[in-house]
Amino acid sequence: MDLYYSDADREFRSRARTWLKANVPDWPRPAHGSEAAAFDREWQRKMYDHGWAGVAWPSEYGGLGLSGLQQVIWYEELARANAPHYINTTYIALMHAGPTVAARGTEEQKKFHLPRILRGDSLWCQGFSEPNAGSDLASLKTRGVVEGDHIVVNGAKMWTTDAQHADYQELLIRTDPDSLRHKGLTWIICDMRTPGIDIKPIRTMLHDEHVNMVFYDDVRIPVSNVVGEIGGGWSTALATLSFERGLGFIGDQLELYERVGRAIDLAGKVRLEDGRRAIEDDGIAQRLASIKADTIAIRSMTLADIAETDRAGVPGPKGSMMKLMVTTTHKALSEVVGEMLGWSFLEFDGDRTAYPWVYDYLWSWVFSISGGNERDSARDHRRSLAPAAQGAVIYRTAQGLRTNAAAIPRRGDGSAGIFRIENGETDFESTR
Ligand SMILES: Cc1cc2nc3c(=O)[nH]c(=O)nc-3n(C[C@H](O)[C@H](O)[C@H](O)COP(=O)(O)OP(=O)(O)OC[C@H]3O[C@@H](n4cnc5c(N)ncnc54)[C@H](O)[C@@H]3O)c2cc1C
Repeated sequence: MDLYYSDADREFRSRARTWLKANVPDWPRPAHGSEAAAFDREWQRKMYDHGWAGVAWPSEYGGLGLSGLQQVIWYEELARANAPHYINTTYIALMHAGPTVAARGTEEQKKFHLPRILRGDSLWCQGFSEPNAGSDLASLKTRGVVEGDHIVVNGAKMWTTDAQHADYQELLIRTDPDSLRHKGLTWIICDMRTPGIDIKPIRTMLHDEHVNMVFYDDVRIPVSNVVGEIGGGWSTALATLSFERGLGFIGDQLELYERVGRAIDLAGKVRLEDGRRAIEDDGIAQRLASIKADTIAIRSMTLADIAETDRAGVPGPKGSMMKLMVTTTHKALSEVVGEMLGWSFLEFDGDRTAYPWVYDYLWSWVFSISGGNERDSARDHRRSLAPAAQGAVIYRTAQGLRTNAAAIPRRGDGSAGIFRIENGETDFESTR
């Protein structure tokens, strides 16, 4: 059977492109603070009002109920239109809290939270990491004691992105004090306005205050806010991490391709110390070419993962492979740009709109830590993807990038195909 973007996919892409051309805000997003959060809510609300929010989310909860592939097309078009970056204050709500509630929440939780997230009415933060439980998440100590129909929480969380703007938090606590490691944890929705929560900002080298410490002093959360089972939080947390590491960074994976294009343009303009244009340096040209090839492979893997998620409902372990590949490719790109511009470019006053490459460089380091640091997670990611990677190889041939048979993505109807990549567009190609 022939596989390619269907007419509906192409029509969707064309409508998305037209709408974005007319509606992408032409004023810059404020770099941080409450103005940035207000900007993100407004942009999300605008997308929702015009029927573009939650492309693959179920329609009964405010989404469009379309396919994962159309969700990818939407992200591709956002990147192409240079729309406001999707890793903003709506990110956690849209990319992993919402999907976790959709996959594991009760009907009541879904009906209440999912439309609010899509409308930009509720921002979320993630309370997983603690001062002594980051890489080793299973050693977390923040306590939750069940008292009647509430759970009373005491402890502290670390590195909580955008806690100061968030309405809700995906909070992981230890509800069984005698439990070992990942047993006895509970994933609960915490309303950030509950009395007893204290947020202390941490200033970062990005010159912003997007991460925080959060302290909990007898914070009373209704038991009805538990997602999954009391004591079964590890399994819900793994679902969250699979969304965060896999589909959560889809936009970034797709944007990398656009960013490489911008870096190649830059290489044609900037001059090295010896007066040559950067692109005339064989080493730089070669590295840019290799990074571009990697971004194309990443796009193909993204499509394979989407095909799998469409079938299974929750992303598979390939998300780990992509998180690693995107992180390392992003870093490699930032390094080349740093060399082209000269390292004094790191003299940065925090204005991300005036210094996008510096911001991008610093962000590449954040990205290698958040969602699981690169060194520790490389081991875990590689372990978790090993079964999926058996035979799942994307390789280059004279005709372009190919996957081997085991990795062939299947669509909803079970039909299979291999990838064809032309002019930066990834498409499926017939196998028979
Ligand atoms: C910008 C940013 C945003 C973040 N946002 C969030 C968020 O919103 N919510 C959230 O929950 N978390 C968030 N995180 C936390 C992130 O997930 C953790 O930082 C990450 O999981 C690593 O944990 P850690 O910082 O505690 O490092 P650690 O676990 O302390 O590790 C630091 C280094 O020490 C090494 N190390 C650790 N233990 C050992 C050992 N026993 N022996 C040898 N070496 C060891 C590790 O290999 C690693 O290289 C964020 C982090 C950053 C930087």
